[in-house]
Amino acid sequence: MYIIMLGAPGSGKGTIGNELCDNYGLTHIATGDIFRNEIKNQTDLGKKASEYISKGQLVPDEITVSMVESNIKEIDDVLLDGFPRTIEQAEALKVFCAENNKRIVSVINLNVPDEDIVTRTSSRVTCPNKECGASFNTVFMPPKVEGKCDRCGTELVKRPDDNPDTIRERLKTYHDETEPLIDFYKKEELLENIDINIYDENVKEKTTKSAIERINNRVND
Ligand SMILES: [Zn+2]
Repeated sequence: MYIIMLGAPGSGKGTIGNELCDNYGLTHIATGDIFRNEIKNQTDLGKKASEYISKGQLVPDEITVSMVESNIKEIDDVLLDGFPRTIEQAEALKVFCAENNKRIVSVINLNVPDEDIVTRTSSRVTCPNKECGASFNTVFMPPKVEGKCDRCGTELVKRPDDNPDTIRERLKTYHDETEPLIDFYKKEELLENIDINIYDENVKEKTTKSAIERINNRVND
C-alpha cells in the first residue's frame, strides 16, 4: 500500500509521517533523499537530473518519475513524501500502480493556516554545534536559558531563511504547486485532511484519529 503525504514546509509533516510509518509499517520515501542518493551514486538518472539542477532548471517529470519508481518498485508499503508534485507525476504514479499491482490507499493533506506556519517557523532556533544540533522554539519550546542550548550551552542561531517574508514566499510556491494535486486526489476520493492548529493540539489529535479510522476501513476493504 502507498500513502502520499502533502504538507507545506514547516507543517509538521515529519512527525505525522513517522506516526503513519509506525502504524502501518511503511517505509518513508522522501524524494529529496532519492535525488541526493542518485546524484551521489552517479546513476544514469542521477547524472541526467544533475545536468538540469546545475543549470538551475527544473528536473523534468519523466526523470523524477523514473527515479521514484525504480526506488519504490521492490517495496510493498511506502509513505511517499515530496512525490507526486505535479499532475503529470500523479498520472504516471496511477499508471505505475495499475501495472505493478500497487494501491494508493490514501493521500494525507496537512491543513495548517499559513500564519501558524509563519509564527512557528520564524521563532525556530537551532544549536550550531555540529555534534549537537538541538532545536528549540522561542515561542513554543524555549530553551531553559534564553539564547543558549540546553544540551551544550552553545549560543542558539536562527536560519536566515526562517524570516516571515521568505516563509510566506515558500508557502505561496507550495500552494500554487499543490492545489491542483488536492483537486486531483479529491476526485479520486483518496484525500484525507488533517487539520493542525499550533495553539491547540486537540484539533490535530481529533482529525488524525478520524483520518486513520477511514484509512483502516480502506485497508481492510
Ligand atoms: Zn547544543
